[in-house]
Amino acid sequence: MADAPVPILMYHAVAADPNEATRALSVTPEAFAEQMAVLADRGRTPVSTAELAARWRSGRPLPPRPVLITFDDGYEGVHRHALPVLAKHGFPATLFVSTGWLRGPYDTGGGLDTMLDWDQVRELAGAGVEIGGHSHTHPQLDQLDDGRLRSELILCKEIVSDQLGTVPASFAYPYGYSSRRVRQAVRETGYAQALAVGNDLARRSQGPYALRRVTVRRSTGAEEFGRLVEGRAIARTFARDRVLTKGYAVVRRARQARGHLLRSRA
Ligand SMILES: [Zn+2]
Repeated sequence: MADAPVPILMYHAVAADPNEATRALSVTPEAFAEQMAVLADRGRTPVSTAELAARWRSGRPLPPRPVLITFDDGYEGVHRHALPVLAKHGFPATLFVSTGWLRGPYDTGGGLDTMLDWDQVRELAGAGVEIGGHSHTHPQLDQLDDGRLRSELILCKEIVSDQLGTVPASFAYPYGYSSRRVRQAVRETGYAQALAVGNDLARRSQGPYALRRVTVRRSTGAEEFGRLVEGRAIARTFARDRVLTKGYAVVRRARQARGHLLRSRA
């Protein structure tokens, strides 16, 4: 059973009234509470990202019916709405913060909606939420040159370390985008594991720097949520996403080709 796949749920904002930029990937506070109740009813055992990776690394068995609850970016609703629900169930979770998006001294103004401040992040950490890195300004890391790539990773790690007093061990790629070069840089920065998207269950064989997650969004109904957690019908649920991702990859390749052309002219 050591190689049994594990669902890693990817959340973003938890908000009753999110703005347009975050709406599709948000969930309502009520839906989040219902989803956590489903996990409890089904005897699921949430574990943190560091815990999953450590167990897979050492070959120690996971608890029965494991699941991961993860949040990206750092929206305020994770503290306001998700934390009380997680605390009620005693569920650990992982929050991946873009340090330049959080309110406070490092705010670059890029946050898409109301973001957490550092007191709230510390409170989450104190309540058993693992705090991981998600870059500083949330760029597509695979599009950056080496210098900017390194500074995005290092700045994020140093700010989290300064603010929390512990070095972040886990990372999540913004937009889920990585490449061999990005994964290498993430490892060299000191992160022990990293999460992608991929809309699939995570498996040990994916390796610690490309673990896949499934997206929970505003349109995810109770039945679909149950299927996601069990790993059933994921291909069908996310078929549309795959088409979109493919289409976007074509656009990006075209842009890159144009960029090379311009650079070689200059
Ligand atoms: Zn993100």
